[in-house]
Amino acid sequence: MNIMNNKCPICKSTDIKLFDYPTAKNNLFKNLNILLCNTCIFRCVIDPIDPKELELYYRNEYSSEHECRTRYGKPEEYFSSEKNMFKAGRSSYQLDLAEKYFRKINDRSVLPKKILDFGAGFGTTLFLAGSKWPNAECYAIEQDESMYPYLDYINADKTTTSDCADIDVLISSQSLEHVDIFSIGGMLESMKNVLSPNGIILIDVPNNSFSSDTQYQMHVHEPHLLFFSKKSLSKLFKSYGFKILFISEYGDIISKNQINRMYNFMLKGLHRLGVLPLHPRYSIKDGKGLRMVVCKK
Ligand SMILES: [Zn+2]
Repeated sequence: MNIMNNKCPICKSTDIKLFDYPTAKNNLFKNLNILLCNTCIFRCVIDPIDPKELELYYRNEYSSEHECRTRYGKPEEYFSSEKNMFKAGRSSYQLDLAEKYFRKINDRSVLPKKILDFGAGFGTTLFLAGSKWPNAECYAIEQDESMYPYLDYINADKTTTSDCADIDVLISSQSLEHVDIFSIGGMLESMKNVLSPNGIILIDVPNNSFSSDTQYQMHVHEPHLLFFSKKSLSKLFKSYGFKILFISEYGDIISKNQINRMYNFMLKGLHRLGVLPLHPRYSIKDGKGLRMVVCKK
């Protein structure tokens, strides 16, 4: 990573600029510098953050045990219905997409044997994977200990990247944006190492393909440290030896473009009327999220 040489860490372009972390409320983020590459529209925090302070921040400010228990209830209640689960629709769509691309590179009769959720949270995705592929072993990587009762309840095997191998389907949803620029390379290497030869990875991150500062600032959330565009996300994975099978923007539109906004409004309306399935399934330019499926080259 070439941050010190005034180059974009992903595409090596020198057309970059620095600015302050917008919308930062916590002191930990207030004085951080963000690099913007005008070529691949990648943005990242370039100042090192003390891992201990970041851990404290996550523990005290970000997702407290208190919030999980009061908002989502105990595990037996949480897993009793999809309605009680955190974004079950999103998880279910991610699994459908993963299945589609797993089948494309494997014999159709082959089912994924090992599933890993990288940043598993409550374990919603693993729980739903269990009903889709009943014989699959489910592994979870999760740092937030308040999630452990939920992961234990569904018998997910808590693990680390150095302890698992031969993963057929690896899901990383809304987690890569929390990794810092100094660690992302190592993380991609370990993802590649744990993947089986014909395994696939599904990545879901916030979309920051916006070149305008206003649009970007509307969509910056503390404590994110990496801000991917469609171009920079695919370029990063390609440079670590992955092949891109699918990449698309999705979800609610963050745009000032009136036509896009009207289109978004219409889709939402049709979804509410029950005519169309879950809105986030649609590929849509300027959507809030970015989804990608990759395999080894
Ligand atoms: Zn770049």
